[in-house]
Amino acid sequence: MAQKNIPFHKAYFDTEEIKEVSDSLVSGWWTMGPKTKEFEKQFSEYLGAKYCVSSNSWTSSAHLVLEAMGISEGDEVIVPSVTFTATAEIVCYFKAKPVIVDIERETGNIQVNAIEKAISKRTKAIIPVHYGGQPCDMDEIAELASHHNIRILEDAAHSLPSYYKGKKIGSFGDVVCFSFYATKTLATGEGGMICTSDEEIAKRATIMRLHGMSRDAWNRYTAQGSWFYEIVAPGFKYNMTDINAALGLAQLKKLDSMNSLRKTIAQKYIQAFNESNLLTLPLQKSDRETCWHLFPILLNLEAINIDRSRFINEMKDAGIVCSVHFIPLYRHPYYKTTFGLDAKDFANSEFFYEREVSLPIWPGMSDEDIDFVADTTLSILERAKK
Ligand SMILES: *Cc1c(COP(=O)(O)O)cnc(C)c1O
Repeated sequence: MAQKNIPFHKAYFDTEEIKEVSDSLVSGWWTMGPKTKEFEKQFSEYLGAKYCVSSNSWTSSAHLVLEAMGISEGDEVIVPSVTFTATAEIVCYFKAKPVIVDIERETGNIQVNAIEKAISKRTKAIIPVHYGGQPCDMDEIAELASHHNIRILEDAAHSLPSYYKGKKIGSFGDVVCFSFYATKTLATGEGGMICTSDEEIAKRATIMRLHGMSRDAWNRYTAQGSWFYEIVAPGFKYNMTDINAALGLAQLKKLDSMNSLRKTIAQKYIQAFNESNLLTLPLQKSDRETCWHLFPILLNLEAINIDRSRFINEMKDAGIVCSVHFIPLYRHPYYKTTFGLDAKDFANSEFFYEREVSLPIWPGMSDEDIDFVADTTLSILERAKK
């Protein structure tokens, strides 16, 4: 049998992406312009979001949001421990403090109790991360936030499209940021989007994403625009380009079909793993629906005699690339030393981190690939059974 080679992620595209991108190249409009505007418009229609402001990454979009919220030195922003560094680093940009709290071990999402305990007089915002795609307990978090007059920035980098109580993430809530990084469920290479119903946030972010200019390039250089602009603040260079937006427009058309391919893969995995007591599948809460950006499993370390890295190495030897989401923030030297964090204070995160493995899940995986990943997972665990 030929050696298998199943990557963790593979780009999914066809001639539509190629046509849109070459159209942008040939048109000569390579930076932010008509396609960026069109992508924002179609994205807001897709989600049912009031204002959509694009940028060149989740990180830049969330930076713009915290700036618009007026975060400043000495403020505190609550973030979960199990996330990518971007979620917390944007808080540090303002010399504000990311207050890192524990997760639920069943879902990988931020724990509402832990948020409540961490709220202080300095707390200005909470950044819940919809881990792997499954929405956090948004009603409870929103209630806490409104009670304490705190803002919410949802990290929706994993959750396009995910549903909470029947509503799409991004269609409700305070402010929601998406990522279009190469591996995300809609990819533009690099890209991000702010969705909000707060006009002030949308206005400020629109100005600040392009140098603090009172009019953007598109308005300036088209016939109805003019050469005149004013700088109202020292802004950033965070705009999306039409080349990225071209990818976004083509990807948006196939987002629902890509999502149903992911769902099919997830269902096959669930069916394969349901009976096994050597691993646990994250709890899917009944009032919400994940888009399966990730397919996380938790190894049942009590029942096997190998650890997580040995498992991942054995998968790799079989030709399957897995990943881990995430190394908890308090384990990174910067967060650990700067904020004096101790793993002992994060029991659920430690439990989760020791056991978590993300299996390959991408549209375009063949039935044979899916079966091979499931069979290999189970046979490695069976061999390691105590
Ligand atoms: C990918 C990711 C980000 C960062 O997105 P960029 O677009 O690369 O800036 C932030 N948060 C989470 C949870 C992510 O997975």
